[in-house]
Amino acid sequence: MTDYDENVHEDTKVERNESIWNGSASLVEIRRDLHAHPEAGWKEFRTTALAATELDRQGFTIHLGDAAVAVDERLGVPDDRAITAARHRAYKEGVPEGLLKRMGDVTGLVAERTYGDGTGPVVGIRIDMDALERVEARDESHKPFRDGFVSRHPEEMHACGHDGHTAIGIGLARQLDASDFDGTLKLFFQPAEEGGRGAIPMSRSGHVDGVDYFAALHLGLGNETGKVIAGYDRPLCNCKFLVRFTGQSAHAGNAPQTGANALQAATTAIQNLYAIPRHSAGASRVNVGKVSSPNGQNVISDHAEMMIEVRGETTEINEYMMEKSNRIVTHSAEMHGVSYDIETYGKTTTFESDEEMVASVSDSAAMVDGVTAVSTREQFGASEDASYLIKRVQEQGGKATYIGIGSDHPDGHHTPYFDIDETSIQIAVDVLIETVETVGTR
Ligand SMILES: [Zn+2]
Ligand SMILES: [Zn+2]
Repeated sequence: MTDYDENVHEDTKVERNESIWNGSASLVEIRRDLHAHPEAGWKEFRTTALAATELDRQGFTIHLGDAAVAVDERLGVPDDRAITAARHRAYKEGVPEGLLKRMGDVTGLVAERTYGDGTGPVVGIRIDMDALERVEARDESHKPFRDGFVSRHPEEMHACGHDGHTAIGIGLARQLDASDFDGTLKLFFQPAEEGGRGAIPMSRSGHVDGVDYFAALHLGLGNETGKVIAGYDRPLCNCKFLVRFTGQSAHAGNAPQTGANALQAATTAIQNLYAIPRHSAGASRVNVGKVSSPNGQNVISDHAEMMIEVRGETTEINEYMMEKSNRIVTHSAEMHGVSYDIETYGKTTTFESDEEMVASVSDSAAMVDGVTAVSTREQFGASEDASYLIKRVQEQGGKATYIGIGSDHPDGHHTPYFDIDETSIQIAVDVLIETVETVGTR
């Protein structure tokens, strides 16, 4: 664990907007505050603290950090320096010292509260909190810039709507008190959804066990405000891995024959990765997104790295893609006499939403103000790590779904001009309240 307050003095703290922390801010104000303070995967110290503060006030039991996720199961965790920097930043931005101590180096929150006499079902809702590592647009055409809540963190941005998701989780906790729900609500404020890194450790925390009804949700996804998708099905399985080739450097002019070229191994691998035959049983994908080698032109490259992802419609197809990729990496290394290692840093699987939950959500959505269209089931084009939470719930006999909440967005997810329509935040809260009540009063 690292020490967050080292070299940080009171006078370096930024002024804290008390309304965000004392429960008086609206959900839109909370969303805007989160949008201005985005935190990428495993750096969500401020976001976790804000949700924990609010839920503690609502009477929830709080599990933080290593009490919320199985620490050793985390994938794609930034290095210690980056984590320390993120904790320093959170401290400067007003996170109470006690909460930072409780979190340690690990973000994430599970909050639970029992309503009624405790005999009702356990309902779980997954809320993902992380931002993306990307720069946000800064011009007048972009509402967050125009209205003064553009990202204050130069290389992070809420470009997927998880700021809205976090506000929705808080809204659900605030409003459920006034409902007829009789059961236990567990809110899973999950870190590191982007890249498929945070759901596996949360699914193995023990908190998901015993959940009877479970839902994850997403804003936007190309759906206009007012549309609700009660159950997404069959996202692509996905695996992301980092490959490091290590060779032998040599002078490119006077002794190239003594080198072992790591960069050549990487390029050989890239050519052949894209040549993996398609699978007749369903969709597959492969992409090499990043390649790097640090040497100059007069050096035989001794080090090369690349980031690869494969996807498949089923676990079998995904495994086929992984197996072929491994073989290509192995033999590309062998061909050029270099060594290699492969590190998996993100993973998702597939799922099918359960009919009982899909029916509950679509009945509930039809009763909510602002909902103009309800679609029962749609195919989920991309990948989602909530798949591991859904699988875990289903394996234990629980019922689960993945809900889409339409939200007009001016540009695509993960782009610099992405934004959400804030009216969809309250729609999502109302859909969840109705759903939780429906499954909780059967
Ligand atoms: Zn995303
Ligand atoms: Zn997302």
